[in-house]
Amino acid sequence: MPALLIWNKNKMFLIAGVSPKIKVLDDKPVLCPVCGLAQAYFKRIDHYFNLFFIPLFRVRKGEPFLMCERCERNVHEMGEEYHEWITNG
Ligand SMILES: [Zn+2]
Repeated sequence: MPALLIWNKNKMFLIAGVSPKIKVLDDKPVLCPVCGLAQAYFKRIDHYFNLFFIPLFRVRKGEPFLMCERCERNVHEMGEEYHEWITNG
């Protein structure tokens, strides 16, 4: 994730950045257009400004998308950075 690391002469440091958070818009699954199973959920990725790894406020509201629990990589339309973030964490 993009993070800002600032060092001063006293070796104090500040870690701040913007991180995506996945929000599930609807808990009720819908049919996946790829595998045909009702395992797809409407989700949204919002970006939050965080300081020392604590999200403070939302800086950007994402667009809703459909992500299937079974074949998630085939359904949603997100960048590689989000793929890595989801699979890693
Ligand atoms: Zn699917």
